[in-house]
Amino acid sequence: MSYSTIYEGGKSLDNKFIKKLMDIFNGNVSTREEDRIIYSRDYWPIALKWFLDKKLPALPHAIVWPENVEQISELIKIANEYRVPIIPYGGGSGVMGGAIPIYGGVIVDMKKMDKIVSISDDDLMARVQTGINGMNLERRLNHSGYTLGHIPQSLYCSSLGGWLACKAAGQFSTKYGKIEDIVVAIQAVLADGSIIESKEVPRSSTGPEVERLLIGSEGTLGIITEATLRIWPYPERRECLSFAFQSIEDALEAVRRILRQQVYPAVVRIYDKEETLRHFYNIKEAGDKCMLILLLEGSEEVVELERTISEKICGEKGIACGEEPVHHWLKTRFNVKESSEFLPRGFIFDTVEISAKWKNAALIYHSIIKALKSVKGMIIASAHASHFYPQGVCFYFTFGGIPPNDDYEFYISAWDAIMNECIKNDASISHHHGIGLTRKKWLAKEMGKRMEMLKKIKAAIDANNIMNPGKMVEYEG
Ligand SMILES: Cc1cc2nc3c(=O)[nH]c(=O)nc-3n(C[C@H](O)[C@H](O)[C@H](O)COP(=O)(O)OP(=O)(O)OC[C@H]3O[C@@H](n4cnc5c(N)ncnc54)[C@H](O)[C@@H]3O)c2cc1C
Repeated sequence: MSYSTIYEGGKSLDNKFIKKLMDIFNGNVSTREEDRIIYSRDYWPIALKWFLDKKLPALPHAIVWPENVEQISELIKIANEYRVPIIPYGGGSGVMGGAIPIYGGVIVDMKKMDKIVSISDDDLMARVQTGINGMNLERRLNHSGYTLGHIPQSLYCSSLGGWLACKAAGQFSTKYGKIEDIVVAIQAVLADGSIIESKEVPRSSTGPEVERLLIGSEGTLGIITEATLRIWPYPERRECLSFAFQSIEDALEAVRRILRQQVYPAVVRIYDKEETLRHFYNIKEAGDKCMLILLLEGSEEVVELERTISEKICGEKGIACGEEPVHHWLKTRFNVKESSEFLPRGFIFDTVEISAKWKNAALIYHSIIKALKSVKGMIIASAHASHFYPQGVCFYFTFGGIPPNDDYEFYISAWDAIMNECIKNDASISHHHGIGLTRKKWLAKEMGKRMEMLKKIKAAIDANNIMNPGKMVEYEG
């Protein structure tokens, strides 16, 4: 295959290093071109576009498949000796370019570390290896009578390690929390090869939880190898409700009031008028309105009470639309056809999640939609609110259009429009997809003085800058 690469990559691997890899991983190593091409990217839409244009983002030099934590520790020790970049890899479903090996090096594919080590019914905790695929984890827990309550749209193609590394959010997060709320303890290999483990206790008061630095670090400080997670008995009852509101403001206000009562529906989604038309065109009451869907789950009595409270609040300004919109959402929630349909036709699109406080939630929604519509070539600019807290909300924007000139220029203009509005209006530039390559240029503005602290942490933990270099912080090593 003939191709060029966007990033330069790094110097090739020493033969002695490759021999050591073979010894450590009992041959579970590949330097074949086919494998290097497969691992040259994740699910970053612009990288998919490059791929269609016969350009690869960057090639790794080798891929390894560890089976235990000791192998990872040995690998990282020799990588320090030979100064070889190490890039952890879960499902490759990241949408920010986080797993792209821009300086080459070794991809550590975690998929063979996929065991549920233990489940404790008394403590409602499960200890799990982080290479496990999301759907396999949830199905195995369901068979034992539990749920994790973490159901991202990428459930079928992402891993526990990727969730922890990116601070993922599942569709049921309003009740169960994001992955950083669900994780109790971790085992990880740090950038010097040392293995750390936190205690499996509900809470402790023993100084800063230093291991939590790994959560959200996107592979730049070490590799998370196991995690102990909160689990819940599989819910007895599910209740589906939906309401159509005249405006996004009215729908947001109804949800804000529900949460103030300490009622946490598992799923809450508010679609703006454009997305309501796109997804619920067959619901006649929805018309030119904003659809709110609610899915309540848990024990019989709790769900009954939550239903009564939710119906009362939503009924004040909303038109009840019954269960059908929620069933439709349940049926279609894992459908992802945009990239295969749009990109080959030259239609550049992406989705961007941000979070805002209630106070300026509606303002930030309108200002971002307006900013997106002002980008030349933009055709679609819409959003739904997908994750909720008593303090505020996550908006999930979708943009798409035909670039008048250059694809990348159009793509970056759209991202600039969203990120600048977030920084101007005190919203966070990311709620759950993370930083990767896409958001790196805005991180310093988001972090302020904390960016210096992050750089010092990186320098202290990864002095040779071998862990996923070129991501999150600029550091020479
Ligand atoms: C169709 C689709 C739907 C999506 N829906 C959601 C959603 O609902 N919610 C959501 O939060 N995200 C969603 N995403 C984004 C993506 O699935 C998440 O970011 C997910 O957490 C990535 O997991 P992964 O295993 O695929 O990680 P990868 O893409 O393999 O890696 C992501 C980053 O994590 C690092 N990493 C991976 N494993 C480890 C480890 N064990 N230790 C340390 N670092 C590691 C990598 O180096 C990289 O920087 C979606 C993506 C797609 C394509």
